[in-house]
Amino acid sequence: MKIIDNVFVVPGVVANPYIIVDTDGLTVIDAGFPRGGRKILAYIASLGKSAQDVKRIIITHADLDHFGGLAPLQKASGARTYASQIEADAIAMGKPSRKIKPTGFSLQRILFTVLSPFVKATPFQVHEILAEGQTLPSLGGLQVLETPGHTPGHISLFAPSVGVLFCGDSMVSDEKGLRGSRPGITWDETRARESERKQAGLGARIVCAGHGPVVIDAMGKFPV
Ligand SMILES: [Zn+2]
Repeated sequence: MKIIDNVFVVPGVVANPYIIVDTDGLTVIDAGFPRGGRKILAYIASLGKSAQDVKRIIITHADLDHFGGLAPLQKASGARTYASQIEADAIAMGKPSRKIKPTGFSLQRILFTVLSPFVKATPFQVHEILAEGQTLPSLGGLQVLETPGHTPGHISLFAPSVGVLFCGDSMVSDEKGLRGSRPGITWDETRARESERKQAGLGARIVCAGHGPVVIDAMGKFPV
């Protein structure tokens, strides 16, 4: 589904993988569960592009529904892959970067506790480590923001030229706007709130979260 010119969300894949189309190739943000890779490739084909057009795959954090599809997608495309150090270390072990707490109610936590014993992601060595202040050459400059809280090494990506923020699971969206990461799946609540405030101050026009609909006219719809 098209969000703006050159930015798409892959429908029907958990954790909303996003695709940016640039003249030098495609950037994929998050890769879904292990089986998501195939659906992402099918969607790329529907855009008239091929797996080989994928130049970059960025993972916001090492939850199975975000990096599960990474290994198959990278194998098919040969793309370079990116994550923060903490999340890359977890992806290299094929597991999340923090434990899911046995408290709190959320659909995501239930998904995790029910599915985790059955869903295995292929461990993968990410090519490049991202940190605060770096800018990738996608969408006119894609800034890396460290947004810990949901996980310790979570990153978000912001394209100031178009006002689009990809916030991973640092926030979730619903029809009304954005909400914070839910308690049972949050590594550190205080840092999660700090990361929400930091992102609220960017002036983003559109927010693309890992779960929920794309938030248009995002000003005033942040949880803080
Ligand atoms: Zn997550």
